[in-house]
Amino acid sequence: MYISRRELLLAGVAWPARSQDQTPFPWSEGQRAAVSLTFDDARVSQIDTGIALLNRHGVKATFYVNPGAVQRRLAGWREVVAAGQHEIGNHSYSHPCSANLAFSRSNALEDYTLSRMEEDIDRCTAELRRLLDVTPVSFAYPCGQDFVGRGESTRSYVPVVAKRFLTGRGFRDRWANDPRSCDLANLTGIDFDGWTFDRMRAFVENAAKEHRWVILAGHEIGVPRHQTVIAEELESFCKYLIDPANGVWTGTVAEIAQYVQARRRKN
Ligand SMILES: [Zn+2]
Repeated sequence: MYISRRELLLAGVAWPARSQDQTPFPWSEGQRAAVSLTFDDARVSQIDTGIALLNRHGVKATFYVNPGAVQRRLAGWREVVAAGQHEIGNHSYSHPCSANLAFSRSNALEDYTLSRMEEDIDRCTAELRRLLDVTPVSFAYPCGQDFVGRGESTRSYVPVVAKRFLTGRGFRDRWANDPRSCDLANLTGIDFDGWTFDRMRAFVENAAKEHRWVILAGHEIGVPRHQTVIAEELESFCKYLIDPANGVWTGTVAEIAQYVQARRRKN
């Protein structure tokens, strides 16, 4: 039988105090949301345009890279690592995606096994150690796809990522992460290529109502074109992010994940 809140009140039964579920996640004082800016594939515009833009505002980001692409701007990536502000994450060695994507047809997840995926991911880590002297703790699923195989033999490779990394990030998701309950190995990533500043701000403001963690995922940084975070819009967004009046904590994925983990242990 359903008993309405009104009936309970009439019967003198106290409505339960705010359940733990409704308690906003405790970000640091005065903060309503966390935001991580992330960029994939080590596109050259990230080094040529993006890093200087972010650094001008002191905004940190996580770059999920593939070693082959890193070599196109190796000196630039080494400078990023030496400066120590941004995070370098693993985005696999060969970037396998579904066979539906033309570029991945000969390297399709449908043809992978878990052990082949493990090798690909470990090869990326080994190469990043060799090229950049970093050991990534964050991973982004290429194309946001987290399976190998097909049909009855399809397997999730989230456990492969969970075993190796602090975090795994998806792509083209719709919701921001709930820091109280999200799976760090399967975080959502919101595709923000082509977004206006107003759209970025609106998304964060909406997520802030529930004290969420927004992970935005982009590719190129520059003038408006395919798969590009528009530099001018990003510039305005950085100003918004660093304004303390907006109560938004901007940090790398690893940094925020560590905070989330520590707070969860405390509760
Ligand atoms: Zn990618």
